[in-house]
Amino acid sequence: MEITSKNVFITGSSRGIGLAIAHQFAKLGANVVLNGRSAISQDLINSFDDYGVKVIAVSGDVSNYADAKCMVDEAVAQLGSIDVLVNNAGITRDKLMLKMTEEDFETVLKINLTGAFNMTQSVLKPMTKARQGAIINISSVVGLTGNIGQANYAASKAGLIGFTKSVAREVAARGVRVNAIAPGFIESDMTDVIPEKMKEAMLAQIPMKRVGKADEVAQLASFLAQQEYLTGQVVAIDGGMTMQ
Ligand code: NAP
Repeated sequence: MEITSKNVFITGSSRGIGLAIAHQFAKLGANVVLNGRSAISQDLINSFDDYGVKVIAVSGDVSNYADAKCMVDEAVAQLGSIDVLVNNAGITRDKLMLKMTEEDFETVLKINLTGAFNMTQSVLKPMTKARQGAIINISSVVGLTGNIGQANYAASKAGLIGFTKSVAREVAARGVRVNAIAPGFIESDMTDVIPEKMKEAMLAQIPMKRVGKADEVAQLASFLAQQEYLTGQVVAIDGGMTMQ
């Protein structure tokens, strides 16, 4: 898909990987929709000024079906369509399984997995009608391997992989492609809070011996949106962590 002038909705794009993805698409000439639960600041919107594209902000919670639908409707009202959806919004609430509460489990599933369902359902009909569209779900290597203390998060990210492949099969013949990205250990607010000792242990498992950058994930997202013969795939970007 030629990205210039296309409209890209990136959930959870007020910081971190989502923000890097928004900048990457804008750099390629796409209009972007920024989102987070908190209001998007004018400074953040201004940081896109140099690209000469349209930037709109819609705040809301992807885990709320009505919110998700409203946000998509608002973006479509302002831009005309959504050509690419990046389901990036995600949270962690790490605890060992024996200590994890029902609420810890459900909250993470609701945002990371149900949120992607809510947003995808809101954009899919017009995408299939237009016979064009790309959906990119931000999963995690943890969804492939599991991780101690992350039964909730890993379940949500593994769920996203099954979701990606199922929807990809359903809409492939109608011109819409659905892929997932499984990032490894990427510098962001989410990983800043990981204790130093645990970070060292994670680094030891990365063949490339460094953490990844949000920009690197963003480049992959734009590649997946542009590559016309790629669907139903999960691409790990992890410095070799999960190579087989
Ligand atoms: P982050 O820095 O914590 O940013 C998360 C973003 O999601 C923020 O913009 C946040 O804004 C938004 N958000 C959270 N809950 C939301 C909701 N219910 N509705 C709408 N927006 C919501 O996280 P990150 O590290 O950039 O991670 C981004 C994605 O990559 C996540 O799905 C994460 O699981 C995945 N990932 C990250 C890593 C990593 O190493 N960093 C590795 C693998 C996968 P508000 O707080 O204002 O809502």
